[in-house]
Amino acid sequence: MRITGITVKLLEYPLEQPFYPAWLPGYPQAFHRVNLVILETDEGITGYSAGFAFGQEGLKLGELLAPFLLGRDPFNVEEIIKILRSATFLGLRLWYVEPALWDIIGKALNVPVYKLLGGYQERIKAYASTGELKGVEERLEYVEQIQKLGFRAVKLRFHSLDWREDMKVARAVREHFPKIELIVDANMGWRVAGLGEAPHWDLATAQRVAEELKELGVLWLEEPLDKNDYHGYRLLRQRVGIALAGGEMNSDLHEFRELILNQSLDILQPDATLSGGILTAKKIGGMAEAFGLRIAPHTWTSGLGFAANLQVMGACPNCEWAEFPYEPPGWTPQARDFFLKKPLTIDPDGYISVPLGPGLGVELDEDAIARYAKS
Ligand SMILES: [Mg+2]
Repeated sequence: MRITGITVKLLEYPLEQPFYPAWLPGYPQAFHRVNLVILETDEGITGYSAGFAFGQEGLKLGELLAPFLLGRDPFNVEEIIKILRSATFLGLRLWYVEPALWDIIGKALNVPVYKLLGGYQERIKAYASTGELKGVEERLEYVEQIQKLGFRAVKLRFHSLDWREDMKVARAVREHFPKIELIVDANMGWRVAGLGEAPHWDLATAQRVAEELKELGVLWLEEPLDKNDYHGYRLLRQRVGIALAGGEMNSDLHEFRELILNQSLDILQPDATLSGGILTAKKIGGMAEAFGLRIAPHTWTSGLGFAANLQVMGACPNCEWAEFPYEPPGWTPQARDFFLKKPLTIDPDGYISVPLGPGLGVELDEDAIARYAKS
């Protein structure tokens, strides 16, 4: 089989309500933008994948990639990973092209990708992942609602200029909902500066927060320090003894090797669209397994990125929790998955199924793609 066409389309979905991502202070998000990768082959099978788009930076990517990818066998994933690695020398993070290869391979063999990578589990416990900073009352209402939907865990954002404000919310949730599992994400791994005032935690601050969260019995504290502060993470982990997670914006094998060798984290969070592709994420899962660590892939991109990561989770025995991005009214399943035929949902027990169709397992909505395509 050969790749005969590559197109990258910018999709732009207007959110019904503006969304205020905690990790982008000062940026009211009005659109969900996606770079949709479409790989065509000489056997008539088309593979799709998607990456996050901030603006129109993806418009020329298809043209740029064509000379590197045309004529290649989509089954030769390692060969194409090398090409995507070389794109990083230009400052381009194009790992999200790789899941499109797996979409082709799975469709050619008529199996979901997780079956090709080890086929460990068909469903995973989902946690509701918030995206905004909200006051106590609003967050309590949210937790009540997600509990009714079946979720057994919630991830709160800590990104106020004074972390004590966030702690009030966490304490209130703990008090009112003693049974729900709590996760906290500080989003300090890849702090975005320049749009609004963003908080910054040093090791001492991270330690104070972690000590208080330990009392609340959180499942893990995510990204309290910079994503490459391997040493700081190690010190924090040793001093507080709370589970630390991170890695959503770390890339490729060597950065994850450093996170492991430095004993920085308990839970690695590779994202198949950001960290090196599905194959690299599965390898990272294996490295983590060998060191007695868990993985909990990051999924906060689009529904198709979510599907790619669910395929990885289905193949990893050391993955217990799946991130389910959910923050209505701005970030609804419909807004997240706007170009899928059906939004991804959980079952009443709080589990999410690995999409079981061939390839990445989901069907795309061609009408939605035509409607929201800007290129
Ligand atoms: Mg995170």
